[in-house]
Amino acid sequence: MRSETIHTRSQTQQARLAAIYEVSARLGSIFDLTKLFNLVMDATIELTQAERGFVMLLNEQTGKLDVVGARNFDKRTISAQNSTEISTSIVERAITTAEPILTSNAQEDHRFADVQSVVGYQLRSIMCVPLRVRGRVIGAAYVDNRFMSGVFGQDDLDLLVTFANQAAVSIDNARLFNQTDQALSRRVEELTVFQQIDRQLNRSLDLDRVLGLALDWAVNLTQAENGAIGLVGDSAETPDSTPHKSINMLARKGDQADAEHTIQSNHPILDQVLRGGDVARSRHESALADKTVTQLAVPIRNQGETIGLILLDSPLENAFPREDIDFVGRLADRAAVAIKNARLYEALRHAKQQQNDFLAVVTHELRSPMTTIMGYTDLVRSGAAGALNPQQVELLETVMGNVKQMRLLVSDLADINRLEMGHLQLKCSAFEIKNVLRQVKRSLRERIHDKAQRFSLTIDADLPPVFADMERTIQVATNLITNANKYTPEGGMIGVRARRDGQFVAVDVVDNGFGISETDQEKLFSQFFRVESKQVREEKGWGLGLSIVKMLVEAQGGEISFRSELGKGSVFTFKLPIEDNQT
Ligand code: ADP
Repeated sequence: MRSETIHTRSQTQQARLAAIYEVSARLGSIFDLTKLFNLVMDATIELTQAERGFVMLLNEQTGKLDVVGARNFDKRTISAQNSTEISTSIVERAITTAEPILTSNAQEDHRFADVQSVVGYQLRSIMCVPLRVRGRVIGAAYVDNRFMSGVFGQDDLDLLVTFANQAAVSIDNARLFNQTDQALSRRVEELTVFQQIDRQLNRSLDLDRVLGLALDWAVNLTQAENGAIGLVGDSAETPDSTPHKSINMLARKGDQADAEHTIQSNHPILDQVLRGGDVARSRHESALADKTVTQLAVPIRNQGETIGLILLDSPLENAFPREDIDFVGRLADRAAVAIKNARLYEALRHAKQQQNDFLAVVTHELRSPMTTIMGYTDLVRSGAAGALNPQQVELLETVMGNVKQMRLLVSDLADINRLEMGHLQLKCSAFEIKNVLRQVKRSLRERIHDKAQRFSLTIDADLPPVFADMERTIQVATNLITNANKYTPEGGMIGVRARRDGQFVAVDVVDNGFGISETDQEKLFSQFFRVESKQVREEKGWGLGLSIVKMLVEAQGGEISFRSELGKGSVFTFKLPIEDNQT
């Protein structure tokens, strides 16, 4: 009889060990913490056949125990509030001593004689096992039985200890996995955010926009209430006549939108940020609103020098944790680069503006004296001021030729200036391109004839009218055909053809002249570029024509392109839009 009992007990024990083995294998594959806690809880109840059970974990931040699983015997989840019914002193003892506790009759156990829950809830059988992993206790598994004593024996405790060890390892792994996973996804999220920030910041060369963008990101991602970005400005005299740098607040959000525009850098926080280049986080009375705020000031540094700062504030006491500070710091680094680019661009734009203003004055001032020179020279050459010998006539003609060249240059420069400043007024209308091309052909006939070049003009049938500025189209065609004439040797061939190309009328100017090398082709539309060759340099020119042609064609909604081969010739094609209603 006795041996039979023993046999049965060991069989039961074996079956329970097998169950532990089976559950433990499943535990290892679950990384979802809620699922894992539920499984640990269910398995604890099943293995011990307890009436109730709780799984608790130590919260490292609060130092308290969090109930992560709670069950009745029928596996119903019971409220975590019921945890007040468990003997916290038993759990605490198990956790502090790191030893399992078993009591088969708690009511009579002197260890728990005064424990309220044991007495109050008539707890009789209790087991509590610490969850231990990597030498630390991370929590406890607790089961109890209210009405029956002697339900749990040493075997049950051994089983629960074995299971608790497995469960603790699985919980620890899952928590680590989640931490790493969270850290990784935070990192990935941050990288994605920075990718967007970089894209937006690099796209803009406008300083205000750069600052506005950086501030939006800083405020939104740290959930600040207010924010401002300021840049270090010029020195300002303070009452004690010490020169201080000031911060010009250039971008603001929230209440800060109405904040003062300039803050003197001897302001305590700014001083720390500007002088030390450190991040400052403090809690103090807001200068703007009647409340206490947490304020974060992060320097924007460029090559070791603090060029500005990002200021954020929030009413929350725990606002701007470490990650936020790191984030704003990295954002400030990026903003520094974008600010530098925007400032360089601004300086360049300013220089260009000055150059344009200068050119506008010069070209205007040169025009009238040149007209006077031309007028008087022509008068003298015509003999109006007395008879001239042939040598004098020739000299005066050279003067006139040079003044004409200069007038061309002045007019080209004035055009470029107007185009660059957006001051060129186009007078667009619908007209036939063939009329323009015939007119240009007539005006260039003499110079083409002088070089004994063959010239052909082909106009395709049924060409729709173009919608463009006629005078400017004449200028474009004249320029390209003049180039063909200049850069094609004597006896060469020039062909002009107008044809339909989709929504455009295209004009090809073809020559079998010098052609342009591939390297030179890249610089062809740059101002003052001329090919370095004797043949080219024998022709008069300033290297401005093509860049004007390009700007003029594009300003009219057209396109320009070319193909060229050195020693063989070139084709320049400009396209102008056809009149809207002609499709
Ligand atoms: P410019 O004719 O006053 O030099 P452009 O801007 O019209 O100025 O042309 C720039 C340069 O491009 C010319 O100096 C010449 O070297 C080259 N070029 C332009 N058109 C042709 C062409 N049809 N064939 C060969 N080279 C050309």
